[in-house]
Amino acid sequence: MPRIRVPQSFSAGLFLTYCCPSACRHCLYACSPAWPADWPGLEELEACLAALSRRLRPHPWGPRTVGFNYGLHFTGGEPFLNFELLLDGVRLASEYRLPSLFVETNCFWCRDDDLTRDRLLALKGAGLHGLLVSVNPFTVERIPFERLERAIRLGQQVFGRNLLIYQVEFYHLFRQQGLQGTLPLEDFLTLFGPRAFAGTTELLLAGRAAYRLQHLFPVHPAERFLAQPCPTPLLRNWHNHVDNYGNLLPGFCGGLSLGHWRDLDRLETEGLELQEYPILKYLISGDMAGLLDLARAHGYRTRPAGYISKCHLCLDLRKCLADQGDFRELRPREFYKHLEND
Ligand code: SF4
Ligand code: SF4
Repeated sequence: MPRIRVPQSFSAGLFLTYCCPSACRHCLYACSPAWPADWPGLEELEACLAALSRRLRPHPWGPRTVGFNYGLHFTGGEPFLNFELLLDGVRLASEYRLPSLFVETNCFWCRDDDLTRDRLLALKGAGLHGLLVSVNPFTVERIPFERLERAIRLGQQVFGRNLLIYQVEFYHLFRQQGLQGTLPLEDFLTLFGPRAFAGTTELLLAGRAAYRLQHLFPVHPAERFLAQPCPTPLLRNWHNHVDNYGNLLPGFCGGLSLGHWRDLDRLETEGLELQEYPILKYLISGDMAGLLDLARAHGYRTRPAGYISKCHLCLDLRKCLADQGDFRELRPREFYKHLEND
């Protein structure tokens, strides 16, 4: 497998930062207030949007309709930490006719109706098509539920059916409970038990969840995961991310980079020279045992406590390798510092 082409993606999330006022225990990208903001410059942002505009496809109902896996969304980290940049980004994305354009937020900023409505109207005026509000037991640990409700109520007024809630099951659960203010995860678990993560709700045991939620899930030895496929394909043509450092992040795999977005044309046509990216080579070929051997050669010892998922094992191996070596595919390096302690 000397070279592998990166599939052209028809939907993408664009990080404006990894910085976030929350530090959710399940965050796939280990975001937190401890990250430097490192906002992209406008020229960089415009060039990136121009490159994405040649690739992204609209929702089947048209370019002004939003959906989780169509077109472009601004995300992070928390994009509303720099509202002026977000507004400029939306204007530029609109000029480049990026389809199905929405912003994802944890609503920390929705402190009153006037401010919330003004910002949503300004974004709509700049060309934004919709808003995604994150609702789950981890964001409400730090963000008062009233702010989420406010964003949803006013977001529906401004964007109509283009107001998305992820995850709507938790929104209804919290409303039924009459939740006010924040709710520590321990209290949530006392009320609902770990069953609340079963059924239709989605919780990927990857990113920070692998470390901060491991006490909630059964653990297994590394061997159990060596032959398991990835929970979602590593190389796919939908819902990938580009971060504020230019990294092309496959799927939901935080801390793993397929290269820089400026190289997209080459990566999609000529492909990646896998010999230069040993970690990607093992992961793309499904050779987890090979990755384990590589990590062992760099001093890795398997965890006596075991692992809750294949992504947990994968992350733990990559964390060791990021610490001990200089692998270009382990970007941003900062990610590995923010997994456990923030
Ligand atoms: S999951 Fe969202 S709200 Fe929570 S830390 Fe990550 S980016 Fe911030
Ligand atoms: S095992 Fe690793 S490469 Fe596969 S989906 Fe999980 S984090 Fe990504």
